Amino acid sequence: SYVANPSEFEAKIRVCVRKRPLSAREVSRTESDIIQTTGRRTLTVHEPKVKVDLTKYVEKHTFMFDEVFDEATDNEELYQRTAMPLVRFIFQGGNATCFAYGQTGSGKTYTMLDPRSGLYVLAASDIFTMHAQPEYQHLAVLVSFYEIYQSQLYDLLNSRKKLHAREDSRQQVCIAGLREVEIENVYDLMEIFNFGNAERSTGSTGANADSSRSHAILQIILRDSQGDRLHGKFSFIDLAGSERGADRGEANKQTRMEGSEINKSLLALKECIRALDLDKKHTPFRQSKLTQVLKDSLVGNARTCMIATVSPNISNSEHSLNTLRYTDRVK
Ligand code: ADP
Ligand code: MG
Repeated sequence: SYVANPSEFEAKIRVCVRKRPLSAREVSRTESDIIQTTGRRTLTVHEPKVKVDLTKYVEKHTFMFDEVFDEATDNEELYQRTAMPLVRFIFQGGNATCFAYGQTGSGKTYTMLDPRSGLYVLAASDIFTMHAQPEYQHLAVLVSFYEIYQSQLYDLLNSRKKLHAREDSRQQVCIAGLREVEIENVYDLMEIFNFGNAERSTGSTGANADSSRSHAILQIILRDSQGDRLHGKFSFIDLAGSERGADRGEANKQTRMEGSEINKSLLALKECIRALDLDKKHTPFRQSKLTQVLKDSLVGNARTCMIATVSPNISNSEHSLNTLRYTDRVK
């Protein structure tokens, strides 16, 4: 199997694409796979088109990314090539962030938060191995898990308590009252995750989001156990579905509003990552709640890995192209 070369991960921002396999349902509908990967970096969409005179043709769209992962790449390999090199980085005092961006059904949750093989759980396993070394005994490992829905923060580890982000005089953003639970091993984390994840879909307020309409943020935090000082953290972010409101068949006002809120935050995210990549003086973190609360994870001693997930089937070609165009502009 592939072993990551640490020098590949010196870039502050890496942008990758992951193509999932056709699902059994898509295969049974004999949908074709229109996405082809070539080598480690190139991906082509064969978009079917119909002319005015009804003749059919295929338009090819080719994109290059830092890395492309085809349908044969499992979560373990994806982990080795994305998040794994960042584990050492957080022990060195850095902030690492992995995003999954894409249409609903394209594999974001499977990639980031699958309870058995999602990036967060594979990373946790290596984090505890590192933590066992004597030089890191002074650090405590904690976890937080929250959701952003309609610009409102909900603590998934504390009965969906509404939280507020505050900015202090040094422009440090903190989420007041966000619960952090100390964990000793991967099993603790799995238990906490399951607890929080259940809060995502069955909140007691009755007003909670369909999970595809909210951003979920799981953080593994290293703190100096003496002074409580933050040492480093790893954020795993399962973004809300990127499909536009109109395509979701959103008839009512509520769902349309959710759609525009999601669009706003995903656009702000793109602009912030681009500004960081270009070392711009001004980064528009205040444009959305998502970017506001992620500011401290993205600036300074930080590494970011964006993983765009795409569905390969013909009926999602428009969505897949939108995802690839968005991601192309992040670079
Ligand atoms: P999203 O979170 O983007 O809406 P999911 O992660 O829920 O999408 O994935 C949709 C379905 O496809 C799930 O049943 C998931 O298990 C499956 N799936 C997604 N990506 C892969 C993959 N790379 N390999 C196998 N199955 C996948
Ligand atoms: Mg999902």
